[in-house]
Amino acid sequence: MGEFFPNPIGANLTMTTRPPARQVAPDLHDRLRGVAVGAAIGDALGMPLEFKPPVPPARLVRAMTPGRLPAGAFTDDTEMALALADSLLEAKPLDADNLARHFVRWYETRPPDIGIHTATVLREISLGCAWQTASAAAHQAHPHSAGNGSVMRCWPVALAHRNDLPALLRDSRLQSDVTHAHHECLSACEFVNAAIFFLLAGHEPRQAVAAALEACAPPSTLRAVIEAAPRKARNELPNTGWVRHTVESAVWGLLTTRSFEDAVAQVVNLGNDADTAGAVVGALAGAAYGLSGIPAPWRSALRGEWPLGSGEQWDAARFAALAERLGEG
Ligand SMILES: [Mg+2]
Repeated sequence: MGEFFPNPIGANLTMTTRPPARQVAPDLHDRLRGVAVGAAIGDALGMPLEFKPPVPPARLVRAMTPGRLPAGAFTDDTEMALALADSLLEAKPLDADNLARHFVRWYETRPPDIGIHTATVLREISLGCAWQTASAAAHQAHPHSAGNGSVMRCWPVALAHRNDLPALLRDSRLQSDVTHAHHECLSACEFVNAAIFFLLAGHEPRQAVAAALEACAPPSTLRAVIEAAPRKARNELPNTGWVRHTVESAVWGLLTTRSFEDAVAQVVNLGNDADTAGAVVGALAGAAYGLSGIPAPWRSALRGEWPLGSGEQWDAARFAALAERLGEG
């Protein structure tokens, strides 16, 4: 991105020769909109590549293509983010009971896509269990499981608390706790939203990652993964549903490219949990490059229904308007 973003650190992947999408630093509104639209686009672009092997670098998919859903359609990652956004628009700071009700409302529409851990927790809550009990029980049943089901949806907190870092960190953890209580899940959500916070404030990506690590002090294992990510080669990124792998892929994508398009295309083409890593890098790259840095064909292809079964159609303009509402006040 011209002189605004200096050379990425440790860029050791095949870069495209395309020029950066823009030369002028995006303003705050552009960045806010970029987070919401970027996350949904990363999800939709990754959707057809989910559970697939990595795509060879010479044949990267750079177009919205159909998979189990039509081309451009977003998945559960974005649906849960929209549930979180709806809750934040009703109560800020976040009211976890309110959020649990929003998640259960979504769960009861029988979404075609839902993580196993998330479904386990939401089923218990829908049957009358308190979220604290349901979440703790799922964690205790698989104490070493740290999935990416809360980091994939966490970005609305960064918009709602774009002026208040302590509140951002607290609500990032809290929204995870409702379904994903593992300490590494909580830390990953804090880190991603803190990075968005510093990107919104105009830090370049490498500075934003460093500032986020400073602000949220993640466990040493997660910190080491984040710090090493930009030096990884493509074939060293498993991109599984483990939260550590998702954050690793997203940081790698952000720090080894110089445009929204390259950041998101590189990450979703890792395959495996492509839509979730795409959503996370999409939120980060959207904050870095703004809505105006997102390729127009991707913006016009984005589509989906929210709430499920309502007939309400969502496009990029609607995500942009949501970002503005979340970022107000
Ligand atoms: Mg998904």
